[in-house]
Amino acid sequence: MERKTPSIAMVPCPGTSHLITQIEFAKRFVGLHPDFHVTLLIPTLGPPSPSMNSILQSLPPSIHFTVLPQVDPHDLPPNADPASLMLLTVTHSLPSLSQALSSLISQTHLVALVLNTFSVDAIEVAREFDLPCYVYYPSSATALAFVLHYPKLDDDGIVVSRKFGELELKEPLKIPGCIPFEARDLTDIVPDTSHSFHTTLVQVSKQLHRVDGILVNSFVDLEPGPISALQNVRPVYPVGPIVQTESNISSNSSECLAWLDKQPENSVLFVSFGSGGTLSQEQLNELAYGLELSGHRFLWVVRAPSKGGADSSYLNAQKYDDPLEHLPEGFMDRTKDQGFVISSWAPQIEVLRHGSTRGFLTHCGWNSTLESVVCGKSMIAWPLFAEQRMNAALLNDQFKVALRPKVNEKGIVEREEVSRVVKCLMEGDEGKEMGRRVEMFKDAAIKALDKDGSSTEALENVVTKWKNLKS
Ligand code: UDP
Repeated sequence: MERKTPSIAMVPCPGTSHLITQIEFAKRFVGLHPDFHVTLLIPTLGPPSPSMNSILQSLPPSIHFTVLPQVDPHDLPPNADPASLMLLTVTHSLPSLSQALSSLISQTHLVALVLNTFSVDAIEVAREFDLPCYVYYPSSATALAFVLHYPKLDDDGIVVSRKFGELELKEPLKIPGCIPFEARDLTDIVPDTSHSFHTTLVQVSKQLHRVDGILVNSFVDLEPGPISALQNVRPVYPVGPIVQTESNISSNSSECLAWLDKQPENSVLFVSFGSGGTLSQEQLNELAYGLELSGHRFLWVVRAPSKGGADSSYLNAQKYDDPLEHLPEGFMDRTKDQGFVISSWAPQIEVLRHGSTRGFLTHCGWNSTLESVVCGKSMIAWPLFAEQRMNAALLNDQFKVALRPKVNEKGIVEREEVSRVVKCLMEGDEGKEMGRRVEMFKDAAIKALDKDGSSTEALENVVTKWKNLKS
């Protein structure tokens, strides 16, 4: 009988950055195990976005994909938050996922199903086919510890009031192995219990407690405390840092890289808010004036402002709205020798790796955080939504590789403060010290991914389990 190719199936959750990181994990896996194939079974809400199509076009031959039938956005609650939409999209896709898996099983020797944070409900399908079920958790070990702890939060008795965005705690939250978190670090991830995001977090937590193992995108030298505490509770495997090695999405990259080529070494601040972060018009203005005031060179990925302040446009393609039209009058002219502005999307990993880039003003998405670390760039932490405030606290308080600008009583970072932190990062002693520390983490990251590194070993341990279970 012909031997079938060994394979694993992965179910990313909808959203560009989730797909990017899941694919990077798939690449890392097939790089270490070229005898395997990976098939991505991709749930989608509405039609696939152009960026998703662009990413899928560039997959290597051993990574296959099936885009599952689109879930109709009208079938989901109109006011659900992005995380709940992701979870519900996957839940609605379970019948088609089951069909796709059945066909995969008939063609390959499928050894495991690997899910993502918000695709955890697919555990039911894994059970149907008696498949080992793992989760690739693309965020920090600290965030994973938080989600696992989340349903117990009320038992702690420290929450005084939890209106979404206005959390009040009696004392900082202490999760084993993690730094204590203040209310300001948790306001976006401790919603009111009547909010759809609360139900989603409880569900994700419940399913994470049921899966056979969790592969977390972190490494021992970065988060020793949380990783070791987690390993006492669940089979957790730190396999990171898993980051893009080259940009997956085509953009007008050559222009901005050509501009960077012309700048002095270590002289540019890269400014970007991830795949979906936007600022209010007021904040956009303050940032623009602050960058100008700092006198330092910058490369800024500008998005059109959103009415409601910081927002995520994760799941739907953005309507065309020229971001540059929203910049303060005369800004482009006045800063033409100081900065370069790019609309909506930049080749981030190439920019961060570039010798002219000195630092990164980031929204603290975990992919951006790790990309900055592996490129050895210290940061200005400017969190917007989801667990980004927690990441900002990690970067500032624990890793000490980022500065955190102060916000005023309206939640705005004023132009003088922008200028202050930019100067501090680009020219101050604190900036130099952060640069030294981030280099240390960069070296540790390289070691972790070495042939005998801790993250390679952790992944090998899981793969050995998969092979033994199904042989
Ligand atoms: N990204 C990029 N160019 C951009 C914006 C984002 O290449 O202009 C990539 C970035 O390199 C990272 C991902 O998109 O890999 C963003 O993920 P992250 O977790 O940082 O933030 P999210 O988009 O989930 O908020």
